[in-house]
Amino acid sequence: MPTWCMVHAAPTLEDCRALDAADPLATLADQFEIPEGLIYLDGNSLGALPKAAATAVGRAVQQEWGQGLIRSWNDAGWIMRAQEVGDAIAPLVGAGPGELLVADSTSINLHKVLWAALSMVDMRARAHPQAAQTQRRVLLTERINFPTDRYIAQGVCDALGWTLRDAPAHELTAALAAPDVGVLMLTHVNYRSGAVHDMAALNQACAQAGVLTVWDLAHSAGAVPVNLSQAGAPADFAVGCGYKFLNGGPGAPAFVWVHPRHVNAVEQPLRGWLGHAAPFAFEQGYRPAAGIARYVCGTPPILSLTALQAGVQTLRAADPHGGMAALRAKSLSLTRTFIAAAEEAATAHGLWLLSPREDERRGSQVSWACPVKGEGGLALDGYSVMRALIARGIIGDFRAGDGTVDAPDILRFGFAPAYNTHEQAWLAAQALAQELERLAASGSAAAQRPAVT
Ligand SMILES: *Cc1c(COP(=O)(O)O)cnc(C)c1O
Repeated sequence: MPTWCMVHAAPTLEDCRALDAADPLATLADQFEIPEGLIYLDGNSLGALPKAAATAVGRAVQQEWGQGLIRSWNDAGWIMRAQEVGDAIAPLVGAGPGELLVADSTSINLHKVLWAALSMVDMRARAHPQAAQTQRRVLLTERINFPTDRYIAQGVCDALGWTLRDAPAHELTAALAAPDVGVLMLTHVNYRSGAVHDMAALNQACAQAGVLTVWDLAHSAGAVPVNLSQAGAPADFAVGCGYKFLNGGPGAPAFVWVHPRHVNAVEQPLRGWLGHAAPFAFEQGYRPAAGIARYVCGTPPILSLTALQAGVQTLRAADPHGGMAALRAKSLSLTRTFIAAAEEAATAHGLWLLSPREDERRGSQVSWACPVKGEGGLALDGYSVMRALIARGIIGDFRAGDGTVDAPDILRFGFAPAYNTHEQAWLAAQALAQELERLAASGSAAAQRPAVT
């Protein structure tokens, strides 16, 4: 057991430095361009810049585009790049080669796979009209989910005549057994709490109940191991984000995966020319490509893809040092260290730990919930606390809640095992304690919020 598994009491700076000295992934941080003195704890929202990305994008612009021009679709391999990057991401989420594709955004890919999953359930019902007592036309999801997932799900349900139903995380297993549920859509790691769903258990329960699963891996891919193809408990559909722990850069394309047993059985709704079986035949009628290639819609964003490719390659530099298992072990050690170092001060100021304390249930972030107004909490504005930390060069983020205990305001600290250190976790915890103290003493006024928090 590495020494970092033993941190429980508030660690000292020396403890943290010792953990960093023993870190098998320590050299990875050198492959990122992070401003001197900055403690970046927002890699779960926008991953840091891999040095290789700047070089690769420069080459793609100057040589491939500038000199090669349209010849680069073949000569520089542009036409293959989306599949190549997909193949590099695949092992991080337990997908096989050729099964996972990079395209579009997470929101758009979610639309495609939800449409395909719901259509598949409807197709089965049409094929066996007498088999089912109840029509399965409910899409089940977790009550508190990232808004885009809910919006897209509601849109697909409206278009196909389904109903969107939600349940709190702890009631999902019971809820998915209802006879009218056809599809379960979940974000593997919750964007607010950082809580991880037990994917294998839920996949198994769904398979037994005759329910298809759609997973959003936005906060998992690159930080939390996932096994989409797990024997006995495979997932059905999945999407994930390119600009978070995969470090693909702002607006990087996302990924999409469909289990090979379904991929040719159903179409996705966005019939673009590049997802055609023979795009360069320029046929007037649509025929979907075989396999995951049918999830392509139009021309891929080559410059963004190139940055994502470098981001994924940089993360895969962890492979010789233990790969995803080592990244996960370090991520847990970082979040555990931060919790232990910050908890006393956080609790003293009325904050509470929203993220699960148990390692198996915690993703790669730590969220502190701010007291709900009128609940006897301090008059402390969480946004001001985060703004003060950012002004000191410690970057996390603030996520507004809805004023209830279920969705309180949160201070969110993401830990990227590829480049964060235990020393940074310790320094961030000290700074949080100091800012809480200072703002509590001075009475923090609610600060003006810019467009992006
Ligand atoms: C980040 C994130 C997204 C991002 O969607 P975009 O289409 O890239 O804006 C979607 N879902 C979840 C759960 C996320 O955390």
